[in-house]
Amino acid sequence: KNLLTVKDLCAGIPGQEIIKGINLKINYGEIHVIMGPNGSGKSTLANVLMNNPQYKVSKGDILLDGESILADTTDVRAKKGLFMSFQNPVEVPGLTVENFLRASNQEINQENIGIIDFHEKLLDYADVLEMDEKYLDRYLNVGFSGGEKKKNEILQLLTLNPKLAILDETDSGLDVDAVRVVSKGIEKFLSEKNSVLIITHHNEILNNIPIDQVHVIMDGEIVKDGDESLIHEIEAKGFGWIKDEVDNEQ
Ligand code: ADP
Ligand code: MG
Ligand code: MG
Repeated sequence: KNLLTVKDLCAGIPGQEIIKGINLKINYGEIHVIMGPNGSGKSTLANVLMNNPQYKVSKGDILLDGESILADTTDVRAKKGLFMSFQNPVEVPGLTVENFLRASNQEINQENIGIIDFHEKLLDYADVLEMDEKYLDRYLNVGFSGGEKKKNEILQLLTLNPKLAILDETDSGLDVDAVRVVSKGIEKFLSEKNSVLIITHHNEILNNIPIDQVHVIMDGEIVKDGDESLIHEIEAKGFGWIKDEVDNEQ
């Protein structure tokens, strides 16, 4: 069953088109990966899916469960089940991780779960992510290492349990431990009721999870689709050969 359909999507900033006619279909229960060189439009696509007001759609459509969400604000899209991780999460002194998560869950899922039940749930997730429970009492992202911010983001993903998780990976590497735990978290999250879109030009996170489809984006267009083997091909040969293929077709 289809979850997300992106139809001939064009978008950008005033005077510059960045996304140039993207088509993409993601079904429930699937993990998709978008790869592409720096500056190819990966983060812009993610931001356009969430309706970051920096970007404007000039053409095409975005459908969630078969219905256009183009007119919906970021807030409404989140309530409909879209989630995006941020490359640089904000630090909020004074707001604990647990209180932040409880407030987001109430706001986005309209879920009124008791404080103790919610705490139990968080302890379960923290266990999966190998986070000490004392992190729940720390101020949001304040003094967190890269790996801790990443785990915290996956904790948020598990707590909010969205329909579509868009994970835009940072360019800076995570340590082996963080990578392993993030993979575990994604596996824990995935079910027949949701799907994951991972945006990355690294491969470590992808090694441990079952990938359904890989899409390569260059200069705002998806120029190649494939299965997991495409990741290994890109790992071995980079993106140049794909660009040559595209140039030869033109
Ligand atoms: P990627 O995530 O694939 O590295 P981005 O989507 O971040 O690429 O950027 C794609 C292109 O669009 C880059 O040339 C980038 O500089 C440009 N771009 C993206 N967002 C903005 C913005 N808000 N203002 C100006 N240029 C932008
Ligand atoms: Mg990016
Ligand atoms: Mg990565």
